[in-house]
Amino acid sequence: MLTVSHLTKKYHRFVANENLSFSVADGETAVLAGPNGAGKSTAIKCIAGLLRFEGEIEICGFRNKTIDAKRRLGYVPEIPAPYDLLTVGEHMEFIARAYGLEHWEEDAKELMRRFELTDKANRLGKELSKGMQQKISICCALLIHPKVVLFDEPLVGLDPHAIKELKAILNEMKAQGTTIVISTHMLESVEDLWDKVFIMMNGRIEAERTRKQVEATGENLQELFFSITEGEVSEEGTS
Ligand code: ADP
Repeated sequence: MLTVSHLTKKYHRFVANENLSFSVADGETAVLAGPNGAGKSTAIKCIAGLLRFEGEIEICGFRNKTIDAKRRLGYVPEIPAPYDLLTVGEHMEFIARAYGLEHWEEDAKELMRRFELTDKANRLGKELSKGMQQKISICCALLIHPKVVLFDEPLVGLDPHAIKELKAILNEMKAQGTTIVISTHMLESVEDLWDKVFIMMNGRIEAERTRKQVEATGENLQELFFSITEGEVSEEGTS
């Protein structure tokens, strides 16, 4: 369970997130959608505990900067940052030790198999392509069996096999009750995944829909997205 209450983040005087409040339940997948610069990454970094902010963020009932929260949180950043001098296999071991995981070897092997990293186990972080670095980043986040997992633009840069595998894993995690948050500037790329979507623009959530609402009303989400992000008509119908 993730709860964000009155999150405001300023970079000096610039307001990148303005009073965001939302929650994502266990087993629910939420999408933060919006064009570049809308404030998605900033919100995700605040949730991940990487930035100072005003407001409150709770992961499974724990303040996000506490150890109890961090233990339960997986984060896949937009730009992967593997350790240059650790191999793929050592990244998994490092995470396992840092989080005090037990019996993690089989999980690590399975994740590496699913993301086609098995034959790269001995390659150094700095020797990997951007896509492979992204796959390690995903494997590290998933190895801890997070209760809440954040993906910042996860599909950009992945090959089709990895996209298929990631989507399958997201569905498995959802079935196990994991709270999933995905940011994207391409709504159609996550069409088959979301339960809830927040459309962001200029640091604010301008619209919020559940899949049930959209299915019941037949609303065209793409049109709503463009009406908000390209400023044709706002939610209230004013330009
Ligand atoms: P998105 O993820 O939706 O593309 P970001 O959260 O990265 O948006 O950025 C939101 C706004 O905050 C943008 O205008 C961006 O230029 C600004 N911004 C992001 N990071 C910084 C930073 N470290 N310092 C100053 N401004 C920033």
